[in-house]
Amino acid sequence: MRTSNYLLSTQKETPAEAEVISHQLMIRAGMIRKLASGLYTWLPSGLRVLNKVADIVREEMNRAGAVEVLMPVVQPADLWQESGRWDEYGPELLRVKDRQQRDFVLGPTHEEVITSLVRTEVNSYKQLPLNLYQIQTKFRDEVRPRFGIMRGREFTMKDAYSFHLDDSCLAKTYEVMYDTYCRIFERMGLDYRAVIADSGAIGGSVSHEFHVLAASGEDAIAFSDSSGYAANVEMAPAPVADAQVSSGAPVTTATKDSNTSLDAFYSAQGKQANQALTVTVVKGHSDDDAETWVALVLRADHTLNSVKAEKLESVAAPLTIASEEKATQLLGCNPLSANPLECKLPVVADYSAAALADFICGAGTADTYLINANWQEQPATADLRNVEAGDASPDGEGALEIKRGIEVGHIFQLGDKYSQAMNCGVLSETGKHQTLTMGCYGIGVSRIVAAAIEQNHDKFGIIWPDPIAPFKVALIPMNMHKSQRIKDTAEAIYQQLTDLGVEVLFDDRKERPGVMFNDMELIGVPHSIVIGERNLDNQQVEYKNRRSGEKQLLDVDAVSEFVR
Ligand code: ATP
Ligand code: MG
Ligand code: MG
Ligand code: MG
Repeated sequence: MRTSNYLLSTQKETPAEAEVISHQLMIRAGMIRKLASGLYTWLPSGLRVLNKVADIVREEMNRAGAVEVLMPVVQPADLWQESGRWDEYGPELLRVKDRQQRDFVLGPTHEEVITSLVRTEVNSYKQLPLNLYQIQTKFRDEVRPRFGIMRGREFTMKDAYSFHLDDSCLAKTYEVMYDTYCRIFERMGLDYRAVIADSGAIGGSVSHEFHVLAASGEDAIAFSDSSGYAANVEMAPAPVADAQVSSGAPVTTATKDSNTSLDAFYSAQGKQANQALTVTVVKGHSDDDAETWVALVLRADHTLNSVKAEKLESVAAPLTIASEEKATQLLGCNPLSANPLECKLPVVADYSAAALADFICGAGTADTYLINANWQEQPATADLRNVEAGDASPDGEGALEIKRGIEVGHIFQLGDKYSQAMNCGVLSETGKHQTLTMGCYGIGVSRIVAAAIEQNHDKFGIIWPDPIAPFKVALIPMNMHKSQRIKDTAEAIYQQLTDLGVEVLFDDRKERPGVMFNDMELIGVPHSIVIGERNLDNQQVEYKNRRSGEKQLLDVDAVSEFVR
């Protein structure tokens, strides 16, 4: 690309509203321009990076066996009425009417559309599992659009939806997606953490967020690299309560069978159910057959631990739910008033497995449910927001670090929230209708562009990691318009690199060298080749690395080999 044909659009001034460095640099480097609140035009350099990010996401999704589709941005309201989200979603959902006064929404996410697609296209268990994704524009009428495209109203998301016959199959795909997300963020050269998360308005139970670490991040995440524990702080389990589980502390135990309601059980023990509730889900192994178990621990004020063991293969992470209301929403019934056996318990965790083996097992086979109630006189809910850096982690290993993170990805085990409401099922092997279970997996493709800048910049501008740079090489001929041999050398190198498929930004403007250097540094091109009279006397040019600042002389003939 020649700058003379390009829309470079760099600028010195930063708009006052640009609070964070990525927003400032995206404006100054000519990557985006604001159209209205939360709405941005992508200029050529910005779009190149956006496409690079999307390409990496697409490659890795394809590699993981997901299949690309493309759904409309505009979605009919009746699908949202069917799922129940027409009433639930709130003002972030932009609702519009067509000329016939029919209701539509601009899609903030596509669970409804994909579920309606799969219920018509997939009829047999033989077509499953299936993981469909798209890279597409979303609209959310954010209450406070800010930080440029980091929290836009219109933004690009990769959203994937998987469909399964059962939860263990879902858990496998969830794990594949988890690993895929790790590969994606690693390929982009980002410093990130996967953390346990709340599943919010999307629904479902098990959920992880992927956060790029940056001081400007809107979330606080607690993690310990030595123990591997990581959670969004709003979800970090109370350390006190978890220590109790992992140490298997002696407790008063009574066994409740599935015919007794929890209320009856409480009163038989002389205890009262309390509204304050924490739910932790854990995973263990049984002694005898080494099977994997999942347990749900419910804690009320007197720390009632109701444990359900269930055969499941996946590994995720502990989940703490801080209110009865939330637990009810996640479990599909109120665990304090309903029989927990009727609750859906798709949450899985790899957590204090050894201690749990004692706690859960020895009491039945994988198909037998056991409920123990354990009381300890201690407050049930520690204030999760009071977790501090340096605290031990909830898994008893390593010290917690607390840092700010930018949420760039979010994966969920949805279960049957949508498939149930929208009647999405198939004929099973035995010929019965079976409702599907679903996962969904989002990546903020456009947000990643800003998040990458938050982690990769200096006082001169952006420093792109090679895999997402708008151009790999900046070719900067000094005073080319006065020197034929500089022009010839620049043209020759440009031609060679272009033939090799290297993306070069050839600065052929009639500008002073200082202006060119500043622009290329601001845009963040990782490698520069500077062509000047003095070095050409020795058939050499200067190479400069944007990140390290390192400079070296290269023979003209060696340039393409060096930077390719
Ligand atoms: P946030 O907590 O930042 O509001 P979210 O949890 O509402 O995000 P999800 O529903 O999990 O978002 O959507 C998947 C991904 O889409 C997010 O992880 C994030 O990277 C991206 N995303 C969400 N909202 C925006 C937005 N307004 N602008 C840009 N990207 C966004
Ligand atoms: Mg949001
Ligand atoms: Mg979020
Ligand atoms: Mg999210």
